[in-house]
Parts: sequence; structure tokens; C-alpha cells
Amino acid sequence: MPDRPVLPPPTLRLKLDHDALAMNWRALNRLSGNARAGAAVKADAYGLGVAKAVPSLRDAGARDFFVAHWSEVSEVIAHIPASQLSVLHGPVHAEDCAYARALGVRPVINSIFQARLWLDSGGGPCDLMVDTGINRLGLPLACLSDPLIARLDIDVLLSHLASADEDVAQNAEQLRRFDQACRAIPARRRSLSNSAGIALGKDYAFDLTRPGLSLYGGIPRSELLAEIGQVARLEAAIIQRRDLSAGDSVGYNATFTAARAMHAGVVSLGYADGFLRCWSDRGLLRSNGRELPLLGRVSMDMVVVDLTEAPDLAEGDWLEVPYHLPDAAAVSGLSQYELLTILGQRFRRG
Ligand SMILES: *Cc1c(COP(=O)(O)O)cnc(C)c1O
Repeated sequence: MPDRPVLPPPTLRLKLDHDALAMNWRALNRLSGNARAGAAVKADAYGLGVAKAVPSLRDAGARDFFVAHWSEVSEVIAHIPASQLSVLHGPVHAEDCAYARALGVRPVINSIFQARLWLDSGGGPCDLMVDTGINRLGLPLACLSDPLIARLDIDVLLSHLASADEDVAQNAEQLRRFDQACRAIPARRRSLSNSAGIALGKDYAFDLTRPGLSLYGGIPRSELLAEIGQVARLEAAIIQRRDLSAGDSVGYNATFTAARAMHAGVVSLGYADGFLRCWSDRGLLRSNGRELPLLGRVSMDMVVVDLTEAPDLAEGDWLEVPYHLPDAAAVSGLSQYELLTILGQRFRRG
């Protein structure tokens, strides 16, 4: 048998800083006071890779994990006990209930419809999401007294804050409504706060918090600036060097024209990798602290950078993609959540 050809090295890599991830979880756990911090790992751990992130979060001490879809369950429970995972979207089909019961993960029940589906399937431990004002997923407070709800075996009673990243009256109003729900519904544990909610203080922490964004380096409120470190480090390789003459234009629609002779580098990073066209003409890449501005448009698989500051760089050399999330959000106009979750499959995650 001939040996299987070995995959050559990548030209795009996403290094997950496992120490920073663990430190962020511990900081959020400490800021949660008497509550314990869990971990939202939906959307492939916000794009960083469940297989890499979940073991680090588990080893740091996280015991409660959240995904959105049923399709996300199996990869997560390869690393943690199924009983530590909740599925936020809840059961929409009878098959979802059968799947949850067979594996031993908890559905988050969001409606009377879902409560009936779960109980009809045989039921078992579940979580209950109540809506306290976001008007997205969750049982309306007016339905709390429905007899079907009284039949549920609720581990975590939860609700979700709509505007915790802002100082607005809605936060206190949601807290008041959640307190009301907690008095009405017996549950083993209660949970209200996402990352930003943790920074609102201990009143919002209850028994369990559910950070996502800030585990991965996102800073939704300034209180978290000193606590949260960058987790995702992106690097892309130069795949061609070229010398431009005065008057040469670069890329689709020739939006950049060289005013003088200059060195440029074609880099293996494009919008198909999640580096969207909003970075065109305002982004830059870095090499050892030297700034290399983008020239022209972002293409599907490539960007071109100005190598004036780093004429020594060669094909195969790695460049850093600045991805400190609050700064990257300010430059790109994307949210910190979008910046993480759009990162494509061509990054080798490590
Ligand atoms: C995504 C999500 C979280 C995590 O929110 P962050 O803002 O990323 O910390 C918590 N709870 C629910 C219900 C979610 O959907």
C-alpha cells in the first residue's frame, strides 16, 4: 500500500491561547461571586473550535455548557459528561426529545409547545427559559402558571438579558421580572447573566452564569477590560511577492493605484475565511510590530498588503492579523461576536 500523501502545511492558522481561555473563565467565575460560571460553546465555541476550547474550559473548572443546535451536541459531549450540556433551542420535533433522552443532555424548554413535546416523550431533567423582555426565545411570564410547566423537572431556570452591554433601565427591569419567575417556578438552579451581565454585579449572578463572548476575548463592557485577555491569534502566510510600478493598480475594480514603485505581498486570507470586504482599504496586517496596510479590495481567498515597512519578507512568511476584538470591531464595523463566529474552516485551528 502506498503511504497516504501528507497534507502540506497550512497558509492560514488560528492559534487558540489556552492559558488566556482558562484565565478568562477563571476571571468570569470569580466575578460571578457565589455563582459558578458555565460556558456557552455554541457555534463551534464561537468559531474557535469545540475540540480545542471545550477541554480547556473543562480543565479550568467549567461544568455547565450550552449549545444552540442539536447538531452541536455530539462534538461537545465527546469531552464532557452529557448531563453537563444544555441545548438552548429546545425541542421542536419529537426526534429532538428522543435524541436528548438517549444521550442524557438537557433540552432548554422555551414554550408550552416544547413543554408538551418533552413531557409526551417521557420527559426527564430539563432547563426552562423564561422571557423577561428580550421577546426572543423563552416562555412568557403569563404562561408560568400553566399546569404543563408544573410537571417539568427543572434543573436550571434561566432568562437572557437583552441589553447588558449598556447602562439602561431594561437590565433592572429584567432582573425584577426574573426574580418574580424564580418565586413562581421551583428549580434546582437559576441563571440570568451572559458575559456582559456578569459585569453588572452580583445581583445578576444567581447560581450559574453563562459567559460566551468574554471567554474568547470579547469585551462587551469596560469593567471587563482589565480581566479579559485575547484568545484567538490569527496568522496568514504570504503566498506571492510582487513589485508594483507607479500607476499599477491592485485587485478587483482597481481601487488602489500605486503612486510610486513599491513592494507588495499577496496573502492567503480572504472573505471566504471570514475576513470580510469591510476591511478593504482600512485593515492592516503586522509583522514583528511593523504595520502592513491592505491595498485594494479583499478577495475571496486573498488580500494584498504593502510591504514597504517590511521589504525583507518572503513567500511563506507569516503575518499577524490584528484581532484584539474591541479594536477590530471598531475598525471593521463588525460586532465582536461576528468577528469570531465568521472565521472560516480553512484556518488550521491549534
Ligand atoms: C449565547 C448565549 C449566551 C452567551 O452570551 P455572551 O453574550 O456571548 O456572553 C448566554 N445565554 C444564552 C441564552 C445565549 O444564547
